[in-house]
Amino acid sequence: MGFCLVGGTVFTPLRTLSPGVAVVEEDRIIAVGDEHLKVGSSVREIDVSGFYVSPGFIDIHVHGGGGHDVMEGSSESLKAIAETHARGGTTTWLATTLTAPLDQIQKALQAIEKAMDTPLGGAKLLGAHLEGPYFHPEQAGAQNPTYLKHPDLSEYKELLDSFPCIKRVSAAPELPGGLEFGRELRRRGILASIGHSNATYQQVLEALEAGFSHVTHIYSGMSSVRRFKAYRFAGVLEATLLLNELTTEMIADGHHLPPSLMRLVVKAKGTERVCVVTDAIAAAGLGPGRYQLGGLDVVVEDEVPDGYEVHLSKGNYVAKLADRRAFAGSAATMNMLVRNLVNLAGLPLVEAVKMATWTPARILGLSHEKGLLAPGMKADLVVFDETFDVQMTIVEGKIVYQK
Ligand SMILES: [Zn+2]
Repeated sequence: MGFCLVGGTVFTPLRTLSPGVAVVEEDRIIAVGDEHLKVGSSVREIDVSGFYVSPGFIDIHVHGGGGHDVMEGSSESLKAIAETHARGGTTTWLATTLTAPLDQIQKALQAIEKAMDTPLGGAKLLGAHLEGPYFHPEQAGAQNPTYLKHPDLSEYKELLDSFPCIKRVSAAPELPGGLEFGRELRRRGILASIGHSNATYQQVLEALEAGFSHVTHIYSGMSSVRRFKAYRFAGVLEATLLLNELTTEMIADGHHLPPSLMRLVVKAKGTERVCVVTDAIAAAGLGPGRYQLGGLDVVVEDEVPDGYEVHLSKGNYVAKLADRRAFAGSAATMNMLVRNLVNLAGLPLVEAVKMATWTPARILGLSHEKGLLAPGMKADLVVFDETFDVQMTIVEGKIVYQK
């Protein structure tokens, strides 16, 4: 007969109710209010006094966790990733592929497609985010340059027809065929995201007109101001900061961006147009140490170089290549990103929560059922303490993780 969370501070996150009450029946929220809310006596009470309650976190860019990667292409690996991120408060995620030979991408998509019919446990798998292979070589980052290519119409039509699980695609719109690709994604209602792109400001405007509306991991894999014959050409970075029409996402693990840049992005975009993503690899949830991940020697640690803006607290891990030349991806879960927005970037808690819930829901077109605690919405909730340690994660009315 349902249950209710009582005594905690509730972030809807458009409002803060302290103390607040959230009532769940089956897979939906049926009521949210302050302590005066009348709750039927047959409803089981769960006391969360001293804790925070918010919508479950929505991570629209996840490659792995718990030692597993989406590219393994198996339901076991997807299950391990879903369970790992549920422990960090994530209730909804997009399994993100990497630039690879086509058959490997297809294998990963097959596993995702299959897992959508059979509940995995842990965070709910919402679908796939195709990150690559249609990227600009100069902005490849950690994407394998061998397999980069221009958008290939017959190839992507076949992928999009075969795998309706694809909900989001990152691509470089300035490549030959890039705008046509954007129009195809728009026609199908798939989120088209500018990523690993070397576009100029003018090319970003064309991309917007062709249906691209989001920008993948701001500051990573994108052009910024370049000079040509004395003249300055703005790039994807400046276009993203400037244009209200574009939404973006940031990897707020404290390593990929220092606090100053996190604050700059929020100042330019507002918390309604930038969400946080983990972009996590298999190292998420593993703790510090040396690992072999996807054939690479990786070290997971919380060290930062001398002179960096902040000393990060213990537990703020990142994955680096063994020689520490470059990041190998984030090792974060969503609760850590929310903590960083508050503790490093100085955001009010309710705004930080918004960037992990309501904002990604709106970016992905899910705001009719996710990202907000209100009657009629899916009962996806997270309970966490003042150190952002997750106490309980609820997915569609079921407790999937409890500390
Ligand atoms: Zn990327």
